Amino acid sequence: MSVFTDDIIGFKSVLRLAYNFLNGNSYLKRQKFKERKKLISVALPFSDLIFASDAVPVFPIRMEKFNIHPYLTALDTAKNLLGWNWTTKLLTIARKFDFLEILDNVLDDVIYTINDKYNELYDLAIDNGIPSDFCYGITGLTGMFISKAKNLDANINFTIRCSAWNKYSETLQDYVPRQIWVDIPPRNLDNSVELLADNVSKAISDLEDVTGNFVTDNSLKKQFRIGNQIKRFYKTILFELSNSDFYPCNPATFAEILALLGISFQDYNSNAQRYLENFSDLVKESRERIDKERGMDVSDMPRILVTPVFGGWEPQVHEILYDLGARTIYADWEILNLLEEIDVSKNSDPIRSYAEFLFKPTTYGIGYNQEALTDSYIETAKELQVDGIVFNQVFGCHSISNCYSRLRKKIRRKLEIPTTVINFNKIGENVEQVKTRLGAFMEMFHL
Ligand code: SF4
Repeated sequence: MSVFTDDIIGFKSVLRLAYNFLNGNSYLKRQKFKERKKLISVALPFSDLIFASDAVPVFPIRMEKFNIHPYLTALDTAKNLLGWNWTTKLLTIARKFDFLEILDNVLDDVIYTINDKYNELYDLAIDNGIPSDFCYGITGLTGMFISKAKNLDANINFTIRCSAWNKYSETLQDYVPRQIWVDIPPRNLDNSVELLADNVSKAISDLEDVTGNFVTDNSLKKQFRIGNQIKRFYKTILFELSNSDFYPCNPATFAEILALLGISFQDYNSNAQRYLENFSDLVKESRERIDKERGMDVSDMPRILVTPVFGGWEPQVHEILYDLGARTIYADWEILNLLEEIDVSKNSDPIRSYAEFLFKPTTYGIGYNQEALTDSYIETAKELQVDGIVFNQVFGCHSISNCYSRLRKKIRRKLEIPTTVINFNKIGENVEQVKTRLGAFMEMFHL
């Protein structure tokens, strides 16, 4: 797959997102040793309380050292000297002299770099004896803790309704002695919101204890406002830009941007304000490019929702689909209700609002109730107006992955769009079978 050179030059926001993700190791070192901030690990997009306590959330893979594409490093050096706008001018000039053929695969390289690291950490966990029947996501996360947990001051756990996840969370004590828990009770109890609000309050006290900072209603609401804005931009990308007949870049690149957003959304690249600015620029730059018709007409390419991918997926899927004439949409956080906004109105109680927010993903999203989860898939597919669904069945997942047969029946009844299932165990392991399956699936669009 090739990324157009123009796409890269035009997409400063994407480059910054990619660079900030990959450069986590040195950014986090600076935060810990120079700024004296506490590093607190988080997986899944639950970083708000950490930000509100003025600590730094870390999706643990970001503590790793990545091979950063020399182009991104050069860009960062230029940015420090000249600012991002000047960097763009510099590149535009350089391009005239054809110095930068290397650009063609920068973003591709970013996604592969992240996934190579995932595989490496997966292997590390297996070598350290994690049972091989855990899903890829949990195994990879365990590898991340084995590798770098010593740098963390604490870890925060949210008990989602997946028993494997909760079992894994209990093992984290071995790597990070300071564990903070937010237990999410079942929604059907009479006082479930009060119980959860109490648990959120306890987690906030623990965060205050770890950081030495007070968490106030204002600091919570300030963080929720930033998070709400990020979610709005995220939805704009999913619902407006991904649904446009003209894309600001080629559709495989667009899918890579969605993949990068999906991964980085878990800790906002450890800096919520900077992440918000990048998101805002991404929407602005994309709209400008679409207005100027810079990019690609994709009106005749069916839009395929590929999901779930947050527990691990084969990143070649979007390239294969692109070669078969389709565009790929990754929208897990929307399906799992994690892009819902948190109430920040004047008289709202932020702790209660956060408790109400937490109930949505755990009631309609992860592992709680297959009926509700499959309804969420159908609802999101309808709203996104996708033309087909590829369900990614993750080996070792007994929670989300085994809802496919129910989902398939519902799709037949309620959506009448083509669907298929692909199997995933480890990146790079099953590519030929995925190609065959997707080839047969795409035949249905060419009848
Ligand atoms: S829901 Fe499935 S993929 Fe997600 S953590 Fe649980 S077992 Fe893994």
